[in-house]
Amino acid sequence: MTLRWLTLSLLGLVLWASPAEAGRLTSWQFDNRANQLRFTTDDGVQPTAKLIANPARLIIDLPGTILSRPTVTQRVGGTIREVRIGQFNASTTRLVIELAPGYTLDPERVEFRGTSDRQWQVTLPPPERIDLNQSPVTGLDNFQVTQNGFFVRLAELAQPQATVRRSGDRKEIAVSIRGNRIPDNLQDQTILINRYGVDTIRFEPDVIRLTVAADGPDWRAAVSRAGIAIVPSGGQVLNGDRTTVPLPSDEQVVQIPVPPPERITPPQPTANPGDFRVPNSRILTTIDPGHGGRDPGAIGIGGLQEKDVVLPISLEVARILSEAGVSVLMTRSDDRFISLQERAVMANRARSTLFVSIHANAISMSRPDVNGVETYFFSSRSRNFANTVHQSILNQIRIGNRGVKQARFYVLRNTAMPSILVEVGFVTGAQDAPRLADPAFRDQMARAIADGILRYVSDNY
Ligand code: ZN
Repeated sequence: MTLRWLTLSLLGLVLWASPAEAGRLTSWQFDNRANQLRFTTDDGVQPTAKLIANPARLIIDLPGTILSRPTVTQRVGGTIREVRIGQFNASTTRLVIELAPGYTLDPERVEFRGTSDRQWQVTLPPPERIDLNQSPVTGLDNFQVTQNGFFVRLAELAQPQATVRRSGDRKEIAVSIRGNRIPDNLQDQTILINRYGVDTIRFEPDVIRLTVAADGPDWRAAVSRAGIAIVPSGGQVLNGDRTTVPLPSDEQVVQIPVPPPERITPPQPTANPGDFRVPNSRILTTIDPGHGGRDPGAIGIGGLQEKDVVLPISLEVARILSEAGVSVLMTRSDDRFISLQERAVMANRARSTLFVSIHANAISMSRPDVNGVETYFFSSRSRNFANTVHQSILNQIRIGNRGVKQARFYVLRNTAMPSILVEVGFVTGAQDAPRLADPAFRDQMARAIADGILRYVSDNY
């Protein structure tokens, strides 16, 4: 199972809810086959990038962009370990592509391309093995970057006093020390940190100066006879918990130039005030377009293929949901094969709140008289969800009603959240097939499904 996960070439496309105020990362995906990260924002952004060693990781910052969800980590496998998306500080979203231990990237071959200021792709060269005999030293006597912050061993075994002051422009934190002093080997050193929102730390005889992001957290100092721990306010210092984090040194950080986007998107009109909006952006719905790639699903009248019907419907459902404030994970967003197991695993790993699989039905070609929509659930706790979405379709679309049914579909049995499967009509049906081939009808169907999901969310979460 693990192997199959690792060979999955495209990680889920995640669409995040994007309320109107501004600058949000709205989707990202890592294409393992093309070694390419793609992401979109709902406002223009000029990313910055750097490569940091030990472990090698490509860091992409999106200034003026925020994330409506907590940090997300996606395991990739192979020479690329994982992709993490998080909020670096109050106004910067950070994407991190971390390589497997022992591998690095040639920073000169990392290519950024902004097809617009809202759509970016980052293509990585194949990761290379690090020559371990040449790996640089990562540590300094008397100074450690710890899992909590920083630790400075002082020169004398005496209890110091420390006062912390932040500069008026908020870009510097000065920790003044009395009753002890900074060890000689640190004095007048400026160390590049690039961690925890701290750019550098400079040591003077009785002051430690941190240059920080103006909108980053405040820091405090905790003293003991052994030394001084500098940690973010609200963070904790655990006595004795000084697990050392490798210290990045100057030559281990390489800035990567990012060219400006090819096109600047004109400002968009704001959404209609009457739009249905769900305030809780922590709701994540997995939308699962059935079949794809070598698996066309059902084939109907005029060669109409199920996979080509359900993908545009699913993409439109995702668009409407994310516009309304519900985050969306898609099991596929283009024409590719994904196993049933992978679909369920994606939803479970993401701890999706809801799961909606979208399919089209088929029966023998000699039964064009069979038409209509069906909605399935397996677990009884999903029954209500199925009813709500099914009813929404019947309310909005004149289509045959084949009812809400219980069935043992794999994706319904193996997803750990309320989950349903909608059969949007028959590709073999004389009435349904021409409509399923029509983009306008598909949009209508998507709207009806999305409204049903939103109705269920607003009633239950
Ligand atoms: Zn199907």
